Amino acid sequence: MKIYSWKALMRGLILIYLPITLIGVLFNCLSELLLISFFLHIVWHYYYLKLLNNWLWNSKSTVLPHGKSDWEHAFVGIHNMQQRHRKRRNNLASVISRFREGSEALPDAVVVFHKSGEIIWCNRLAQFQLGFKWPGDSGDNITNLIRNPLFVEHLQSEDYDKPLDLASPVNHDKILEFRVMPYAKHQRILIVRDVTTYRQIAEQRRHFVANVSHELRTPLTVLQGYIEILGMQSEEGSRQEKAVAVLEQQTTRMCSLVEQLMTLSKIEGAPSIDLDDKVNVPALLSQIENEAQALGRKKKLQIKFAVEDNLQLLGDEMQLRSAMANLVYNAVNYTPKGGAIKVIWRSCSTGAYFCVMDNGDGIAPEHILHLTERFYRVDESRSRDTGGSGLGLSIVKHALSHYDTELNIESNLGEGSQFSFIIPNSYLI
Ligand code: ADP
Repeated sequence: MKIYSWKALMRGLILIYLPITLIGVLFNCLSELLLISFFLHIVWHYYYLKLLNNWLWNSKSTVLPHGKSDWEHAFVGIHNMQQRHRKRRNNLASVISRFREGSEALPDAVVVFHKSGEIIWCNRLAQFQLGFKWPGDSGDNITNLIRNPLFVEHLQSEDYDKPLDLASPVNHDKILEFRVMPYAKHQRILIVRDVTTYRQIAEQRRHFVANVSHELRTPLTVLQGYIEILGMQSEEGSRQEKAVAVLEQQTTRMCSLVEQLMTLSKIEGAPSIDLDDKVNVPALLSQIENEAQALGRKKKLQIKFAVEDNLQLLGDEMQLRSAMANLVYNAVNYTPKGGAIKVIWRSCSTGAYFCVMDNGDGIAPEHILHLTERFYRVDESRSRDTGGSGLGLSIVKHALSHYDTELNIESNLGEGSQFSFIIPNSYLI
């Protein structure tokens, strides 16, 4: 294969024109000889230029015409470029076909579309689950096919962190989870999963827990009544008095567990926050402060509340109370005698900041990620002593999810803990 070099090009030129110049000088006909040589040289070049143009514009053959000398370099160069392009095109085609095969094998519907909405490609499940027609719908705007205003709003928001649950546009009894992700340059990929069964199971579990807790409430109240009567009848220091005290303690624990289970299922099943209701947070925190002071008196805890007056919210008072009270009571329960607790409620640049700090025993890092799981307790025996069920932080997490925020936990063993969250500006009055 001829490799191009400008030196070889120059050498060729010298090899042609040096003898011609010498002959011209020798026979005293330099200008005539040079003119004829230039003319023949141009004709020769034009011949190969014609060959190349014919091949580029008219020929269907993939085989390049043969070139001589300088043109051989040009033809070999074009041939090499052609080979590289063909290889790249084949690679690209195999990547696309692998992507399509992979997407077809997925158990989810996949749609690739432009940032502006035009559909580029979809798999077979998208046709089945979303009712798309392929290739008929290619180039159509996705919002013309999925017309749900929530989906349109979700696309426009460009905030795709959370998936969106919507009824299927084909079958309204089905719930589909829509997940949009930025893909390649100016493209989006939509992955749609049928979550009807998961959602139904979660709903059934929630109903079951709510019903069982509700049904347990009445017998527990009856039990508590009889235990109180038994307590009044038992003699001081007798075995019966001790047994009744244990019974009383355990039924109180069961009652609080039932209450917490009911609160959790109520918060889990609650629709999104109603922004017509006002919550007077300073008044709410003043009640929680009184309760915390009463609870912490025995342990001589120093409890301080720094609350910004008039910093009120829109939303659900029960949910907010559950979140704030659980964090404050946890601090009271898990801070040893003589400890200090500080509660802060103040405005910040992104919204309203709530924080509970204590200088208790702290929590080891390996537990922190699991604290908001149901029934998760760091130290079961200690939790049992405080009457803890392991549901408190799970309630906090669910209540905060309705306010589009998350619980932030910082803790160091032996130094204390800090539980905080920020309610976004959109909920402030
Ligand atoms: P519980 O009802 O057992 O208190 P929570 O869900 O409220 O359940 O808390 C989960 C666990 O987190 C608790 O068992 C406790 O070990 C730990 N915890 C919560 N708050 C604190 C705190 N302020 N200091 C130390 N540990 C805490």
